[in-house]
Amino acid sequence: MDSYDAIVVGARCAGSATAMLLARAGLDVLLVDRTDPTRDTLSTHALMRGGVLQLERWGLLDAIVAAGTPPVGTTTFHYGPPLSATTQVETVEMAAPLYAPRRTVLDGVLLDGARAAGATVRLGVDVTGLLRCDDRVTGVEARVRGGGTLRAHAPLTVGADGARSTMATLVGAGTVRRGRAASAIVYGYFPAPATGYEWFYVPGATAGIIPTTDGLACVWAGMPPAEFAAGRPRGLEVLFDEVFGRAAGVALGERQGPLRGFPGAPAVLRTPTGPGWALVGDAGYFKDPLTAHGITDALRDAELLARSVQGELDYGRTRDHVSRLLFSVAEEIAGYRWDLAEIRALLRAESAAMRPEVRLLRRLDDRGPVGEVAA
Ligand SMILES: Cc1cc2nc3c(=O)[nH]c(=O)nc-3n(C[C@H](O)[C@H](O)[C@H](O)COP(=O)(O)OP(=O)(O)OC[C@H]3O[C@@H](n4cnc5c(N)ncnc54)[C@H](O)[C@@H]3O)c2cc1C
Repeated sequence: MDSYDAIVVGARCAGSATAMLLARAGLDVLLVDRTDPTRDTLSTHALMRGGVLQLERWGLLDAIVAAGTPPVGTTTFHYGPPLSATTQVETVEMAAPLYAPRRTVLDGVLLDGARAAGATVRLGVDVTGLLRCDDRVTGVEARVRGGGTLRAHAPLTVGADGARSTMATLVGAGTVRRGRAASAIVYGYFPAPATGYEWFYVPGATAGIIPTTDGLACVWAGMPPAEFAAGRPRGLEVLFDEVFGRAAGVALGERQGPLRGFPGAPAVLRTPTGPGWALVGDAGYFKDPLTAHGITDALRDAELLARSVQGELDYGRTRDHVSRLLFSVAEEIAGYRWDLAEIRALLRAESAAMRPEVRLLRRLDDRGPVGEVAA
């Protein structure tokens, strides 16, 4: 039987970052995933300030830039009724650029970071059960691709296995908070029509342009799930052009590759820790994609958990504290019950809700104990 200090299940942004930080702290870490986490996944990939800050602090931003990820220096908000020339525009210049690497780039850089820190990485390992001693989780049982099983022991097992987390089910993680709203998204890749983030809002629909690697931009449109179910996503180009593009003077070129769609799912914040286990990333906190905050939160929580393991803070308390404002705002935005004045106020509230998180991450560099951060 293999023994480690920590086992991390799931090797995308949450899992690789957690494994890297635990290994950097001197722990003997096993990181497993049932698939190849450097392949693309169903997700757009706009990073917010906190996410870029984490990559910078961990020394990984250079690799993201070297992979051809362009800087994003502005965010422009377009508010307007369909087909109108009266779209109102607000552009925010940023002090430091943001980045929106493709997941093939981001997850690969993080996985390399985990390997370089000394974590043992095993792919094709599907965790199906937990080892226990009384109430305590003491490791995992897994099917290994190609045949065989793996049983590995550790005093800490981390579920970083995404929104449909097997780990959360196996440990019976409770629900701290559940959302009701959900928004659907359809997206594809086009020759980049913009160099900054461009967000578009009309009542009942949203869209965005996310400049990314290879001279492309991820162009997405969001809508209530009922519209998605009724087939609106089949016409992303038409929807974008008629509702947003013409009004904003943005033309899409020829789409590269297929459209991808997400039908929507309500947010859920789960109990983050228990005896011998913890959940990070979507496994612990899935949120509506309209916030474009899942990856940023995954990178934040990886570090909060790693610091907690080192006795510097309380992971669950800190995570819940910095998450609560954004949870409420995201719920309102994803509900699509706003008019243009309301969405502007909600987006201002969303921006304000991100500040405590960035302050918290900056304070981690002080190496002092981290208490709660006033929102
Ligand atoms: C349509 C859409 C658009 C989005 N857009 C954005 C955006 O613009 N910006 C943003 O920040 N976030 C966005 N998100 C959210 C973002 O995708 C997630 O928050 C992020 O992927 C969470 O990362 P994770 O590592 O927690 O989980 P995941 O990326 O889901 O990775 C989980 C990993 O665990 C592995 N795994 C699962 N079960 C097992 C098992 N039993 N054994 C072994 N391995 C297992 C899987 O193979 C997978 O590799 C979007 C999401 C969606 C759906």
